[in-house]
Amino acid sequence: MTETQKWTERYGHALMNTFGPPKLVLERGQGCRVWDVDGNEYVDFLGGIAVNTLGHAHPALVGAVTRQLETLGHVSNFFATKPQIELAERLLELAAPGVEGRAFLCNSGAEANEAALKLSRLTGRTRVVAMEDAFHGRTMGSLALTSKAAYREPFEPLPGDVTWVPYGDVDALAAAVTEETAAVVIEPLQGEAGVNVASAEFLRAAREITTRSGALLWLDEIQSGMGRTGTWLASHPAGITPDLVTLAKGLAGGIPIGALLAFGDAAGLFAPGNHGTTFGGNPVATAAALAVIDTIGSEGLLAHAVEMGDRLRSGVAADARVAEVRGTGVLVGLTLTGVEAPAVVAAAQAAGWIVNATGPDRIRFAPPLVVGPEDVDAFVAAWPGILDSAAEGAAR
Ligand code: PLP
Repeated sequence: MTETQKWTERYGHALMNTFGPPKLVLERGQGCRVWDVDGNEYVDFLGGIAVNTLGHAHPALVGAVTRQLETLGHVSNFFATKPQIELAERLLELAAPGVEGRAFLCNSGAEANEAALKLSRLTGRTRVVAMEDAFHGRTMGSLALTSKAAYREPFEPLPGDVTWVPYGDVDALAAAVTEETAAVVIEPLQGEAGVNVASAEFLRAAREITTRSGALLWLDEIQSGMGRTGTWLASHPAGITPDLVTLAKGLAGGIPIGALLAFGDAAGLFAPGNHGTTFGGNPVATAAALAVIDTIGSEGLLAHAVEMGDRLRSGVAADARVAEVRGTGVLVGLTLTGVEAPAVVAAAQAAGWIVNATGPDRIRFAPPLVVGPEDVDAFVAAWPGILDSAAEGAAR
């Protein structure tokens, strides 16, 4: 029995079966590489699903977390800490420079969205307009805004009053938003749906429509934000200021964190007692996020993400079995033809690469922002062979 088999069996007995059996049992990581419990090496082109911004064991992140934990590890929200305040200031300035805002810090993406949904109720309205194919998380509130029936139906009734609009359809959005709409929630880039990118025109139209009807424009940048697409927010190229932004995933490079940013009048909606969390704004998590932000700046990772993403997209697109390539920066989605995505994931893993399927014919890559050209080029060179093995495996 291999170590992987032993640990997988123990996992099956000890963990709830929410994720199915693990594909690997991992023990160690360094940069873009991880090693499993049998010592096999993999190049990580998934980055914890768009989380490990700086890769694994980056000294800036390790140093910041270690120093903070040695100094002050946790206080309750009766008290404030310097990294908590500094992070809130930095995030507001990165997301909407010069615009008055406030942050609420929490521990995950779903929790950030839950906070945004609660805040939207304080407008006095209850209706929310969400996008088809949206993914916003698994708590009851964020699930109510997640479109996939298989995720939602076992848990209904969910918090209601949600109207669904096709992603990118300006006319449908204009028709759905009324003076009873509390908020319109949009992922500028739908990651879980397979990396669908909203056009700048759609985001600008959403801003106009929500402003006209007095609804909040809420951008879920949990997967797309914090530099992954080559700008701090994926929505930045559209040049709009949203009322709400939710962040998580890559924000602290792998340390659990979430954030709700609110701008303008929305920033003043929560009053004492309206919302809370024990761990939100934890000094270790916020120090980690500050280290991630500083390192993205000092290592020039925004421009690097664009360069590496373009290199990866054009490299893999050269194979005729790739029908479409989508995405911005190092969030890359592919649609395959004639090869099944789960078989590609398995073939890639057998060849030493971690990638992910977002659907039967859809592959996603979300490598760390620090991924180097040599790893991208090696993957592009391996790609036709991976597709061959996937097709052969399926044929056998
Ligand atoms: N929103 C988006 C756009 C996401 O991609 C995710 C996670 O994949 C979430 C929300 C939920 O975040 P979490 O898994 O941290 O609760």
